[in-house]
Amino acid sequence: MVAINLIKKLDTADGSIEAHFELELQEGEFITLFGASGAGKTTLLRMIAGLEKPQSGKIEVNGEVWFDSQKKIDIAPQKRKVGFVFQDYALFPTMSVKENLLFAAEDDEQRKNVASLIEMVELTSLENRLPHSLSGGQKQRVALARALVRQPKIILLDEPLSALDPTMRQKLQNELAFIHKKFGVTTLLVSHDVAETVKLSDRLAHVEAGKIVKICPPMEFFSHHTLSGKLQLIGEVLKIEEDFPITVVTLLVGSSVVKTIVTCKEAQEFQIGSQAIISSKAFNPILMPVR
Ligand code: ATP
Repeated sequence: MVAINLIKKLDTADGSIEAHFELELQEGEFITLFGASGAGKTTLLRMIAGLEKPQSGKIEVNGEVWFDSQKKIDIAPQKRKVGFVFQDYALFPTMSVKENLLFAAEDDEQRKNVASLIEMVELTSLENRLPHSLSGGQKQRVALARALVRQPKIILLDEPLSALDPTMRQKLQNELAFIHKKFGVTTLLVSHDVAETVKLSDRLAHVEAGKIVKICPPMEFFSHHTLSGKLQLIGEVLKIEEDFPITVVTLLVGSSVVKTIVTCKEAQEFQIGSQAIISSKAFNPILMPVR
């Protein structure tokens, strides 16, 4: 189990606030930090990795204390068993794919495992290439594989897929889910993407102004408790067409385009490009395979 209780002063655009993060992750759990820009999500990840020092508090990972302000314990970042993946990949530009992974390895056993990690992310044929000659998706796969080299106790993912196009993003979400299932490493992801959060996480932690104000299954969070829909799909708003007194909202759900009707007043809550849940209540959907 990972137990976090940290206090940190944040200098935000609205002045100084005292952030207080309290969070427990069960072993193997996948939690997504979701919240507005500037709420403190990245700072929390950086404090867990030891890249940022909290004012006070404690971090305990599987019984090991990484930080304890009272006992003056502050384990160095390189000694914390953390895999960190950033949005901008942070690969070493002069090292090949393989060298990037080998550089992270601490002993022979980890070095031996590098080839199978590269194979797992399907980059064996590109293992001698330099990062600049790889696509964004390939670079992020290298970063993911590199994060696993040291057999981390926790993986920290800071919006790792947000620079990718939607198709590559979906593909890597599936790979992330696969990797999480295969290795079962406790994972903390920062994401602003509703579908990604629902797809990957066991629980969502809603971060607001330096505090985790709610933790629950992601679907419960996004459906605002008010919907008891039997069918719920998440989509991106493509078009909003007013035809008084109704408005037709067109959504992209996966690769399908779905139209639905809301009142003109309800339509004010939606913007093009934002995400929305389409839900049906008294409805018995029939599921059929696509042939
Ligand atoms: P985003 O979703 O945009 O990445 P975030 O939730 O990850 O945002 P942070 O990057 O953690 O937010 O920043 C939270 C706030 O804390 C910001 O206002 C930032 O300026 C401030 N901040 C970041 N690092 C420090 C620091 N070391 N000391 C004090 N304040 C900081």
